[in-house]
Amino acid sequence: MTLPIGPGLLDTLGRPLRNLRVSVTDRCNLRCQYCMPEEEYAWLRRADVLTFEEIQRLVEVFTELGVDKVRLTGGEPLLRRDVPDLVRMLATLPAVRDLAMTTNGVLLGDQAVALKAAGLHRVTVSLDTLRPERFRALTRRDSYAAVLRGIEAVRAAGFPSLKLDTVVIRGVNDDELVDLVEFAHSIDAEVRFIEYMDVGGATHWSREQVVSRAEILERLAARYGPIEPIREETSAPAERFRLRDGTTFGVIASTTTPFCRTCDRSRLTADGTWYLCLYAQKGVDLRTPLRDGASRDELKALIASGWTRRRDRGAEERKELEVIGVRGVLVQIEGLRQDPRLEMHTRGG
Ligand code: SAM
Repeated sequence: MTLPIGPGLLDTLGRPLRNLRVSVTDRCNLRCQYCMPEEEYAWLRRADVLTFEEIQRLVEVFTELGVDKVRLTGGEPLLRRDVPDLVRMLATLPAVRDLAMTTNGVLLGDQAVALKAAGLHRVTVSLDTLRPERFRALTRRDSYAAVLRGIEAVRAAGFPSLKLDTVVIRGVNDDELVDLVEFAHSIDAEVRFIEYMDVGGATHWSREQVVSRAEILERLAARYGPIEPIREETSAPAERFRLRDGTTFGVIASTTTPFCRTCDRSRLTADGTWYLCLYAQKGVDLRTPLRDGASRDELKALIASGWTRRRDRGAEERKELEVIGVRGVLVQIEGLRQDPRLEMHTRGG
């Protein structure tokens, strides 16, 4: 069966299906206070976790519907055994123009070379602080030195670019904006400041702790002088800016300035549930049809029907709640225990 659809599949708001984030595990070796505040979790059943072959098969179907950017995430993607093998399998798909990974960097020191050799194009390392003591308090693990080694290894492995993602939280790390800009510049990387989001998992979230894009820019301008926005035609979540000396950085302002109107991202959990919005409460089960022997066209039809009906604009709806003064935690811990797929660490950031 040939479907009358192909690259260019649009949702109800005219947004294309282009960007797929694939969570390869829900396990993580850090316990960041804003993401995994608990120590123990209701984990996905191991038998439900997709094999590399299953992930490759699904990603291939997605590429036939327009996806050309794939990002591996988690949990911590490097905790999944032999993840360079998965990278190699995805890198063979000709339609995948951009193959990236978001990692906390703890295990990168040993794996950066293998990931580059396997065909990974880009790496983003999450790094919220440059102070070892603060790192320990925030992540509840003593892995700061390992992350720095991981960052060095990315550079040594020859990846052409490196991004550092920092979630900015008032009273936690908002005094490090300048230090992080300087550090990124010193290693030829680009830092992106992410507004603290009220996603699943963020059970301690409060509006007061959000440092807005406006405030981030104001604080950096106080130090560096005028900041110039970089105009780009892109659906990327980060807006980029340039300092007078040419240093660039990004801000991801999904909490105060949602970008739902251009969002072409969807997310596949490690157990094959497909979410069309980071804030969505329900996903599409792709594992069951896949394991029941669905043909490529049947999987394609399932995905196409989900995307063409997509009307999600989760971040905008969350922001609208502020008007009536009820924006708070998205899902309380009991709800997260009942459905672990609602967690940020399960659906990937
Ligand atoms: N373990 C990997 C890592 O640390 O990059 C990948 C998964 S992690 C869930 C992906 C990203 O989501 C990280 O950059 C993390 O900081 C971000 N994140 C988690 N909770 C967040 C929140 N409440 N607000 C904003 N970003 C968040």
